[in-house]
Amino acid sequence: MNRRRSLSLALGSLALATGCRRKEEVAVAPAEPTPAPPPAPVKPLEGADLVPAKIDASLEIRTITGLRPFRPSGYVVRREEREGKTLVHNYGHGGGGITLSWGCADQAMRTMESVSGLSCAVIGGGVMGLTTARMLQLRGAKVKIYTDHLPPDTTSNVAGGHWWPVSVFDSSKRTPEFAAQFVEASRFAYRYFQRLVGPRWGVRWVPSYYLSDGAPDNGWMAGPGGVLHDTQVGFKDFGPGEHVFPAQYARRFHTLLIEPSIYLETLLRDVQGAGGEIEIRRFASAEEILKVPEQTIFNCTGLGARELFKDEELIPVKGQLSFLKPQTEVNYNLLLGSYYMFSRGDGLLLGGTFDRGQWDLTTDDAVKRRVIEGQKRIFDAMAKTRHEHLAALAKQHTPI
Ligand SMILES: Cc1cc2nc3c(=O)[nH]c(=O)nc-3n(C[C@H](O)[C@H](O)[C@H](O)COP(=O)(O)OP(=O)(O)OC[C@H]3O[C@@H](n4cnc5c(N)ncnc54)[C@H](O)[C@@H]3O)c2cc1C
Repeated sequence: MNRRRSLSLALGSLALATGCRRKEEVAVAPAEPTPAPPPAPVKPLEGADLVPAKIDASLEIRTITGLRPFRPSGYVVRREEREGKTLVHNYGHGGGGITLSWGCADQAMRTMESVSGLSCAVIGGGVMGLTTARMLQLRGAKVKIYTDHLPPDTTSNVAGGHWWPVSVFDSSKRTPEFAAQFVEASRFAYRYFQRLVGPRWGVRWVPSYYLSDGAPDNGWMAGPGGVLHDTQVGFKDFGPGEHVFPAQYARRFHTLLIEPSIYLETLLRDVQGAGGEIEIRRFASAEEILKVPEQTIFNCTGLGARELFKDEELIPVKGQLSFLKPQTEVNYNLLLGSYYMFSRGDGLLLGGTFDRGQWDLTTDDAVKRRVIEGQKRIFDAMAKTRHEHLAALAKQHTPI
């Protein structure tokens, strides 16, 4: 018998004994119910602090296409002597040309003993031509750029601008020599871009989230043990139930986002500001290029090198990007399979497609619809999970 019940019975017999009514028994505290266990605290979910992008076809401001200059065995940075001239190639960077640019410009310089005091020609005015030209100037050379197009009319202006060297080579074709060259260029560029962070260059740090339904892959390059893992700052994997995204797994790391329209314009102005000359001109052949007056020539013609230098391994990989009205409150990148979203100042960029061997630059409406609708599903689902999570958190913190 418990103590309270025995006390009640005792008081009852006392009342009977004294002839009093049993009102004392009423005054006795009732047995307390066993308290229910407190609800499990709602664990904070990764991404709950992020604003889901608003995806709707009515917000589209433009759709563009571009051709990535891709070589399955990787880009070419190489020096050769031809017809009494020095020719340094720097082309074929696939889907990672913005990322690798400073690293490959540095490698192109290092094919020479020194460039100081030389008068050099740079053929091409995309990101490779401009970074090569600027690097030559910084190392004491005089530069003239020959190109048929300048920003904003280059493939480099079409790039998403995500700093991460992907779609640059096929793993099955990667030689140890290329691997070493690639890792060196990536590291150099990673450091170099960090000095350019700020509005003047349109470069900033953002978290990137990679979603997947299977556990994220730790390949040759990314993830623990990967050759570029140390550049994945703030790296963390989140499992099922640990994040607000519509996939089983979410991998996060922080990287740089480069806004090509600001970045290339600043680069071009800096080259010109340091005395770089520009001639708008289209070359029909390598022989024509070799006739420019400069003794040292840097070939940064991107996909143009296929015809000019008869490099048949160089092929286009077409990409189509749709932009919605800018949403500056969305401050992260999200990648799921072939879909990706980068939130840029000039628009919320939705990719992506990778059509190998496709030369036709026409935009495809069916692809556009698929990309926009696919991403709408992703962000609507994210918004729903986030909303439910924030409501559960609020309930937990509401005083009763
Ligand atoms: C959809 C898409 C998304 C991308 N996203 C990213 C990304 O997020 N991150 C990233 O790092 N990279 C990205 N890229 C890849 C990047 O855009 C390329 O790797 C990069 O632009 C290649 O630079 P480039 O200077 O070699 O080529 P280009 O920008 O094409 O420049 C070549 C220059 O050579 C000139 N030229 C060519 N032929 C001749 C000729 N016969 N005579 C005279 N001049 C000539 C052209 O006019 C041009 O000025 C993306 C590309 C695309 C298409």
